[in-house]
Amino acid sequence: EFRHGEYSEVVVSTPNSEVAFGKNAPLVNVAGPCSVESEQMILDTAFQLKAAGAQFLRGGAYKPRTSPYDFQGHAELALEWLATARQETGLGIITEVMDAAELNAIAEVADVIQVGARNMQNFSLLKKVGAKGKPVLLKRGMSATIQEWLMAAEYILAAGNPNVILCERGIRTFDKQYTRNTFDISVIPVLRELTHLPIMLDPSHATGKSQYVASMALAAIAAGTDSLMIEVHPNPAKALSDGPQSLTPEQFYLLMEEMKVMAMAV
Ligand code: PEP
Ligand code: MN
Repeated sequence: EFRHGEYSEVVVSTPNSEVAFGKNAPLVNVAGPCSVESEQMILDTAFQLKAAGAQFLRGGAYKPRTSPYDFQGHAELALEWLATARQETGLGIITEVMDAAELNAIAEVADVIQVGARNMQNFSLLKKVGAKGKPVLLKRGMSATIQEWLMAAEYILAAGNPNVILCERGIRTFDKQYTRNTFDISVIPVLRELTHLPIMLDPSHATGKSQYVASMALAAIAAGTDSLMIEVHPNPAKALSDGPQSLTPEQFYLLMEEMKVMAMAV
């Protein structure tokens, strides 16, 4: 019942190169802060991530915050700063769309458009994002079944856009005391059976705690993920969102070294 396209890699054009996800492509690494906080912050971080070997810079301009009183993102300004970081570093950009009204502006800077967990079943947004034609990163809703997630992806595919990457970011179970979500690594073998679409795993939002990110990233590689998304902030204690789960650039660099070893082993 999934009318997914032909088995193939999703290839994303970035300023310096084409980056392939899935099938036989090497592991793709996406890293960056939860929110784009200033031009200097995103530029400095981007250069460090590039030096560590990441191919994509992530960072939110429009943030889906639980409280309306929390930092909502720097919006258009943040998009301009991301465009500068893209130009200066050559990294691909991944940033989230929350509202179709922002779609054109986001598509001008993003190489991959992110649909967040909270919008996974926003079907009108999915149709519009699908019609835009840019590669899409579709995060799993925090309470979405695999079936619901794949049908949400189907909305984008049905709009004529075959370039969808599925991102597991942790689901809600019954324990919020020690981890933010439950990291469902089992989606990797399950999705391999059900769909040709490439897979990304996000241990940062899944665990909510920086000290658990490295082991879960390595576990995701061992289980065969095509790519990883990891939150990195120059000063996690001062982050405007998701500080507790963010690695420092130095921690990310060390993790990348471990990830390369793990990737060679699988
Ligand atoms: C994010 O990537 O910063 C984010 C808000 O993720 P999610 O939609 O998975 O909560
Ligand atoms: Mn975040």
